[in-house]
Parts: sequence; structure tokens; C-alpha cells
Amino acid sequence: MSDDHSHLSETELRVRSLESLLVDKGMVDPSALDALIQTYEEKIGPQNGARVVARAWSEPDYKAWLLADASAAIADMGYTGRQGEHMYVVENTRQTHNLVVCTLCSCYPWPVLGLPPTWYKSAPYRARAVIDPRGVLAEFGTEVGADVAVRVWDSTAELRYLVLPQRPNDTDEMSKDELAGLVTRNSMIGVEVVGAP
Ligand code: FE
Repeated sequence: MSDDHSHLSETELRVRSLESLLVDKGMVDPSALDALIQTYEEKIGPQNGARVVARAWSEPDYKAWLLADASAAIADMGYTGRQGEHMYVVENTRQTHNLVVCTLCSCYPWPVLGLPPTWYKSAPYRARAVIDPRGVLAEFGTEVGADVAVRVWDSTAELRYLVLPQRPNDTDEMSKDELAGLVTRNSMIGVEVVGAP
């Protein structure tokens, strides 16, 4: 990225100003900040959510727990922390397809999905996911049958949603690790479905 600040958005400028102020005043160790960002960029990502989904597909008791108390069931996998304290899992079925958005800003379940993609934070997605969810799905190449209801869930700071996608056909023999490899970030936001292997 260019160092020319005129290319930064106002938010980016404010974040940079805040960071340098906090570092200058000795309130924040820049290496601690780097480590935090690196953790969410490299170590905590959608592979966590994929493991949750694969376990739910493989263990009916775990799935029941996940749907009843997602925060506890996800914490059982070791995925806890900021922006994921209160989780709710919505299950895709033959009758219902679920789609997650944050209409207000960019609330997103960090411990299971990592940092949100740019499009998730964009104004068009946030507005259109509510007004025209089937149109948004079509843009992601996702066709949902006319007989399938589309439900849109608006994330907030208090409650973050994770979609439990439908398990694809012909996966009966697959291990949990193999199943997790099929699960995409977008399928857990609900803009895509999990394809057959
Ligand atoms: Fe938000």
C-alpha cells in the first residue's frame, strides 16, 4: 500500500492516528498489536468454523448441543474470545436457507471465521442482503429453490450467527477432517452452499 495518506479512508487514518498516539504514550506495545493482528489473520480463521460444522455433521449429540447452546458447544472446541462471546447457530435444511449480515456495521464471529471479508463490510451487501437476499445469493452463484425459505439474520455486538450448512451427498464415508475441508467460509455466512466432493 502507498504511504500517501490521501489514499487512506477516514477510518484508516483515524485508526493509524489512534495507534501512533497509544504507542507514543506508552499505552500500547506495537509488537503486541502486531501479534494480535497476525493471530486473527493467520491462526484464527474459517478453518475453526469448518471443524465445528464437520463435528456437527458427524455427531448428532454435538449438533443438538450446537443448536441449543452454540457458545458452549463452540467453546468446547476451544474457540472462544473476542467477538464470539455470544453465538447462535442456524441450520440450513431442505426448507430453509440462512444468510447472515450485519446491517449496522460488520459484526462477525471472529473465533470461528476469523476477520470478515471486505464485501461483508460493504454498504451494498449490508443493504441488499435484507432487501433482496435471493439476488445477493445469485451473485454468489447460489441458486435457492423457490420452495426454500430464505431467512436473514442480522448480527449484532451481542449476538453473532454461524450458518450450519447442509451436508452434501456422498460424504458418508468421510472423516471429520475430510468433511471440514469441504466447508467454506462463505457457506458459513450463508452466501454459498457446500458442494459435493
Ligand atoms: Fe456490526
